[in-house]
Amino acid sequence: MGRRWPVLSSPRDAEITIIGGGAIGAAVAFFLACDGRQDIQLLERHGLCEATSSQAAGFVGQARPTVERARLTMVAAEIYRTFERDTGYTMDYKECGAVRLALSETSVRELQQIADTASVTGLPVEFLSPAQLRDIYPVLERTGSVKAALWSPTDGYLQPNSLVTAYVRAAKDLGVTVATHTAVTDIEVVGGAVRSVSTEGGSCRTEQVIIAAGPWSPALARLAGLELPIVPVLHEYFVTEPVAGWHGNLPCLRIPEVQVYARGESNRVLCGGFENHGTSVDPREVRVPSELAARPDWDVLGGFAGSLSAFVPALAGAGIAATFQGWPTFSPDGRFIVGPVSAVRGLALAAGCNAHGVSGSAGLALHLVESLSGDPSPYVRSLSPDRFVPRTWSFEDARREAQAVYETYYPMPAAAA
Ligand SMILES: Cc1cc2nc3c(=O)[nH]c(=O)nc-3n(C[C@H](O)[C@H](O)[C@H](O)COP(=O)(O)OP(=O)(O)OC[C@H]3O[C@@H](n4cnc5c(N)ncnc54)[C@H](O)[C@@H]3O)c2cc1C
Repeated sequence: MGRRWPVLSSPRDAEITIIGGGAIGAAVAFFLACDGRQDIQLLERHGLCEATSSQAAGFVGQARPTVERARLTMVAAEIYRTFERDTGYTMDYKECGAVRLALSETSVRELQQIADTASVTGLPVEFLSPAQLRDIYPVLERTGSVKAALWSPTDGYLQPNSLVTAYVRAAKDLGVTVATHTAVTDIEVVGGAVRSVSTEGGSCRTEQVIIAAGPWSPALARLAGLELPIVPVLHEYFVTEPVAGWHGNLPCLRIPEVQVYARGESNRVLCGGFENHGTSVDPREVRVPSELAARPDWDVLGGFAGSLSAFVPALAGAGIAATFQGWPTFSPDGRFIVGPVSAVRGLALAAGCNAHGVSGSAGLALHLVESLSGDPSPYVRSLSPDRFVPRTWSFEDARREAQAVYETYYPMPAAAA
């Protein structure tokens, strides 16, 4: 069993200061400590895992169209599986598998592309026959329109709160200190290098600041004189009252054509999706400190319910027990924004998760560690915030493009000529 969580500390002078106690900040703290970095503190404005990460559905999908993203999530999933064995703290990863359905020939080609990628990365996947789909997902009905079903048996989901708690406990065991209820209000840059951060409880000298503040990351970057196209986009899902036949061991389900995902949350249905017309915030409007309000949009949630109930008729009669919503961040090119900023010595970003911040937290944090190693791979270099510095882009375009990444989250390959 894990040790008791030690008493939280106050902000202090530290070589490395991580801002943000969500999935990304916690993962970065843990992996930097594992890398042998000393003198690390994590500062969190509220409690740990109380913002975007607390709202996540927890899907860990390894079957993806691109090799890099598939590898990243495979590495992450292996860490989630073995974290308790290695550290004593569980992330509550449930390896229930995942099914992705195609309803058209275009979508079948997408599944084939994912299967091809899986054969490159070594991820086990297989196409299911209609009978196998019925066995694996008995609560799905009216599957006559399903043209193909791709099964990824080692996929699963985890509880985001367990993920963050486990990272933080393990990081503390390695000497990281954590100050919650400590908002960073300024980042002091002198002679082109970070010198200190100010908090409501006083200022701390630091040589390296890592901004891992989710949708507040662009506002914090601005404190250091940097403009970045990190665009918060609203995302939401609901959990029903109990529905017969549903349970937490059912596989994760994705039906890209109707833009929905679902899984069992104990004996309830968790269902969300990606709208064709998203709602985003201009990064210039995000302030330090500020709250980003998110309320359920019943039209949007009703649309997801309508799409899924075509396959789960029982959903139509089920009451909604809870809704979850928040502002995951998207970048205009759909890629993470990770690594040091050349223009400000001692400043680095771990942001722009493009809705992979829970599933990919371990991979993204490992990219960050590699980016600070002095010899990162070309791929990790390509994620650098430097690609947006100096600013040759407009906020209007960046916002439109980042929102489009959200709206096309479930990619469809171009129809064959
Ligand atoms: C409804 C929903 C469902 C999702 N489902 C999934 C999923 O199934 N799988 C998946 O991989 N991803 C999912 N995501 C996306 C995922 O939640 C995010 O990518 C991830 O949580 C981002 O983590 P983060 O640590 O960057 O941000 P956050 O969790 O928002 O953490 C940032 C932290 O920074 C702190 N902070 C801000 N300003 C300051 C300051 N000035 N000083 C100190 N601290 C500060 C905040 O208080 C906050 O705790 C979902 C998101 C939503 C909203």
